[in-house]
Amino acid sequence: MLNILFAGTEDNWNTYKHLIPEALAARGITAKFSRDLPPDTVDYIVYSPLGPVQDFAPFTRLKAVLSLWAGVEKIVGNESLKVPLCRMVDGGLKKGMAEWVAGHSLRYHLGMDAHIVNPRAEWKSGMSPPLAQDRSIGILGLGELGQACAEALNCLGFKVSGWSRNLKQIEGISCYAGADGLTALLSQSEILVLLLPETPETTHILNAKTLAQLPSSACILNPGRGPLINDDALLAALNSGHIAHATLDVFAKEPLPEGHPYWAHPHVTVTPHTASETRPKTAAEVVAENVARGESGDGLLYVVDRSLGY
Ligand code: NAP
Repeated sequence: MLNILFAGTEDNWNTYKHLIPEALAARGITAKFSRDLPPDTVDYIVYSPLGPVQDFAPFTRLKAVLSLWAGVEKIVGNESLKVPLCRMVDGGLKKGMAEWVAGHSLRYHLGMDAHIVNPRAEWKSGMSPPLAQDRSIGILGLGELGQACAEALNCLGFKVSGWSRNLKQIEGISCYAGADGLTALLSQSEILVLLLPETPETTHILNAKTLAQLPSSACILNPGRGPLINDDALLAALNSGHIAHATLDVFAKEPLPEGHPYWAHPHVTVTPHTASETRPKTAAEVVAENVARGESGDGLLYVVDRSLGY
């Protein structure tokens, strides 16, 4: 009998306890799916960093760990894990992120705050915002989420650029890679979106030097990970006016501590790590598909390269 351990939170269990067995059954797979199994009988672990399992050594029969999260920085360096780690790539998560990034980009692009914060603004003609075709948005990270956002912004008409480790070719998107590519992208990004994973290479990628490469009055969206930004450098750039506004969804420490300068800063919008999340119905299909592939030997999907950290 195939045994699958659910190592997520209790709330998640209530959501997934029916969805994953249904998705497995649809693929003709019979398995015991439980939160409580003897470790040496477990074939697959459905994992959340907020769940109970962080030591994988007792799971001697384990074939793979299937993460419910897209970001794997909390598990990728776990030395007790000796089997493949698959991250979550979920259509629902991607759609949610594209909607969040498009919505917050439009807030900046249209200058929505002017009339929401100050509804009695000066009554003058010729004050319309530019068209999206005249606005440049740069995205750091052109993976599953970055590409979904790039496509959504491109559909809205924005001039979209993206930066990744390996140079990509995506219709309608100006693609960059490497250190020079980063400088080129930053220098033209009136709105910058961070969708890189947290790794040793990407930590503090936005620092005093790279912030200075952005155009004056640029705006920042960070739905990636908090450590991508050097917070002191961002606060300095906000205070000097070089950066007009930052909308931050993720933070070095979460929840963002009481009294952190971001909470009260007039040019910072804090959202509580809600930009997008794994959508259980589609995610259950991804988990079941990977179990099916693991069993048939077809090769697992979305396997993390642990040497790169994502
Ligand atoms: P992904 O598919 O693995 O994409 C990562 C992208 O970053 C790839 O384009 C990769 O380049 C690029 N990259 C990584 N290291 C790089 C480096 N050193 N230099 C240049 N480019 C680099 O990840 P994803 O699914 O899009 O997710 C991205 C991140 O979003 C996750 O890691 C997670 O932290 C965050 N996230 C946040 C939320 C939220 O609600 N706020 C929700 C889900 C995920 P290559 O394509 O060349 O490999």
